[in-house]
Amino acid sequence: MAGTGALRVVPLTLGWVELPITVSLHADTTGRRLREPVPAVLVQTGQGWVLLDTGFNPALFADAPLHRRFHGRDPDIRSTLPGPGDPLLEALTRAGVSLGDIVAVGISHLHYDHAGGIRHFAGTGVPVHLQRTELDYGLSGHPGPEANGMFRIDYDDVAIDWRLADGGAAIAPGVSAVSSAGHTPGHQSFVVDIAEEAGGGGYVFAFDAADLTENIDNDLPVGGFIGCAAEDTVTSIRRLKSLAAQKGYRLVPGHDPVAWPALTAELSARWH
Ligand SMILES: [Zn+2]
Repeated sequence: MAGTGALRVVPLTLGWVELPITVSLHADTTGRRLREPVPAVLVQTGQGWVLLDTGFNPALFADAPLHRRFHGRDPDIRSTLPGPGDPLLEALTRAGVSLGDIVAVGISHLHYDHAGGIRHFAGTGVPVHLQRTELDYGLSGHPGPEANGMFRIDYDDVAIDWRLADGGAAIAPGVSAVSSAGHTPGHQSFVVDIAEEAGGGGYVFAFDAADLTENIDNDLPVGGFIGCAAEDTVTSIRRLKSLAAQKGYRLVPGHDPVAWPALTAELSARWH
């Protein structure tokens, strides 16, 4: 039926993080390092474009003392911007979508590589969807969240029009959120149902509930977890796998250096 599904999906790469593989694969012992993409997703719906996640805040790179504070904590983890300007605005320009075309934002979790562009939507009236548990954690227990990679400057703003969910939530026609806690206390993943007239099928975007294809294929815990044990993150991976299998959709890992560019190329071909 027309108007009930998404019309087009455009994966965005908003930067890169070079890190030890153990950040993504908890029990890995190979000593490998990965260069992981920073993901976001644009979804065209009958009501306008929906943006899932927002990448880095480039102000925290441009200013040396801020960069030292926010990105100098762990010398093993090196984040880089994809270009000279604002990563979200540059990616939107490449996709031919303007900031004003975005009618809703979904945030998987408040880590700095996902929440750094929320500020673009503060004061605009654009709803920003998040789990209530995630915002409660992000605004509590200072300075714990910052030590865990959540930078309050990115999301502590009364002008953000939060839409806080307690579990599953509808965001727009064809776009919904499902709880996938573990990596962070209120992590959520997103289900995109493609409208029949746009080819049908769909995708489940795990984001950081499953960084890599290996987390999904082998039920392996992610390396980042808050308020639970590493093994507990597999509960969300299994739930997402069964949801994707039940719908016949692909489950897309959040930071896979191979799967993400491959999906980007595939979807670009699908809708051109
Ligand atoms: Zn994360």
